[in-house]
Amino acid sequence: MSAGELAGLGIAEARRRLAAREISSAELTADCLAAVEAADALNAFILKTPETATEMAAAADARLARGDGGLLEGIPLAIKDLFCTNGIATTTASRILDGFTPPYESTVTEKLFAEGAVMVGKTNMDEFAMGSSSETSAWGPVINPWRATGDNSQRSPGGSSGGSASAVAAGLALGATGTDTGGSIRQPASLTGIVGCKPTYGRCSRWGVVAFSSSLDHPGPMARSVEDTALLLQAMSGHDPKDSTSADVPVPDFAAAIPGDLKGLKIGIPREYRVDGMPDAVETLWSTGADWLRAAGAEVVDISLPHTKYALPTYYIVAPAEASSNLARYDGVRYGLRVAQADVNDMYAATRRAGFGAEVRRRVLIGTYVLSAGYYDAYYLKAQQVRRLILRDFEEAFERVDAILTPTAPEAAFAIGAKSDDPIAMYLNDVFTVPGDLSGVPGISVPAGLSAEGLPLGLQVMARAFDEETMFRVAGRIEDAAGFDAKPAAWWRGES
Ligand code: GLN
Repeated sequence: MSAGELAGLGIAEARRRLAAREISSAELTADCLAAVEAADALNAFILKTPETATEMAAAADARLARGDGGLLEGIPLAIKDLFCTNGIATTTASRILDGFTPPYESTVTEKLFAEGAVMVGKTNMDEFAMGSSSETSAWGPVINPWRATGDNSQRSPGGSSGGSASAVAAGLALGATGTDTGGSIRQPASLTGIVGCKPTYGRCSRWGVVAFSSSLDHPGPMARSVEDTALLLQAMSGHDPKDSTSADVPVPDFAAAIPGDLKGLKIGIPREYRVDGMPDAVETLWSTGADWLRAAGAEVVDISLPHTKYALPTYYIVAPAEASSNLARYDGVRYGLRVAQADVNDMYAATRRAGFGAEVRRRVLIGTYVLSAGYYDAYYLKAQQVRRLILRDFEEAFERVDAILTPTAPEAAFAIGAKSDDPIAMYLNDVFTVPGDLSGVPGISVPAGLSAEGLPLGLQVMARAFDEETMFRVAGRIEDAAGFDAKPAAWWRGES
């Protein structure tokens, strides 16, 4: 067996081999840890947790030996550093949380670990999940394992869950957690050739996930196949009394919903998702995707989501408003960074100036502005009204169709630094994902083809709130038809 072979297994296949005792979690985990060690060039991890992983794997092997393993028993995962992990440093890629070790576990990671998952480390990301490129981390940018054909320059994996995306795409873990507030699971999944799912708002608990924008934050899974993603989502989901917006609804067997044709299903193609300057490859892949769904038995129809063009401006009022409120707690008093000053107000200011990066400061400034007396009605209240209209677009569309097909992102992975000086260009990367966050409907990105430069492109499937089963079924047919099996050359291990 060569290095990285076990780490490259799918979750479903690894479960089968673990259950049959053909492999142990100790071996599988050791292979992932070795792959992580050999991939420092990707900067995908803020913290590696080899000792924790090794202990968790041994405990998983003991349970497997007794025949009482959970859904993810012995499966190594990477955890976005936005999830609080009990006794293990959590930074959200920000200096402001320097020295913070949570004394509790997020509900999502607790559920994953209760099902036997093994944590290999905490992944790098945009600071406070604010970004689309994973470049705003205080620990430096995450690098995409993919490179364009004949071009060795470094690409962004997208963001903000870019460390999780790169780790899964490079075979450092079998799956990962991410969070999606405006696209941060689906867009990096698209840019790294993996599957990423943002479930319905309320499906996965936000408890213990460091808050960015509470009405928009969605924890969710990332993996290398639709089935693996469904298994992870199942383990992560469920009602949580500790999160007041957690939905008390049953958790279906998501993976069981994947097989089957699409007869009787209607798929909508929203005309507003055709944006200027979209590369031909994205456009072509989208219509090819529609052909695949037709061939699988679905009826494909044109639909309209008329308020789409207001989604980004609405998002960039609501998200910073909530962020400015959520981030008010970082004052240097109780935990995290403190820059001591004689006067307490000076201490707050000095701590926040030293602790927050430029993008986070921009969000706090915009957020406090749109919430301030005199501007609240013009911006925040108006944005909430438009958000309602965007939700209504989806509700009306889902009276006619069962799922919606769109590209996930308007382009393939861009070069590191390409958009760093232009926040608007960066924000535009989320044009197809933000409406799903504003409305709360589930969406998944499935790798479906390559760009002209040989970089992965994803297609997105959205479905009705709490109908992830239809979303997974449609995603499964895209996965079958696309047969996407391209892999990045492992340059980070010195292979070209
Ligand atoms: N790129 C968006 C932003 O910067 C979305 C980030 C996210 O989904 N966490 O806010």
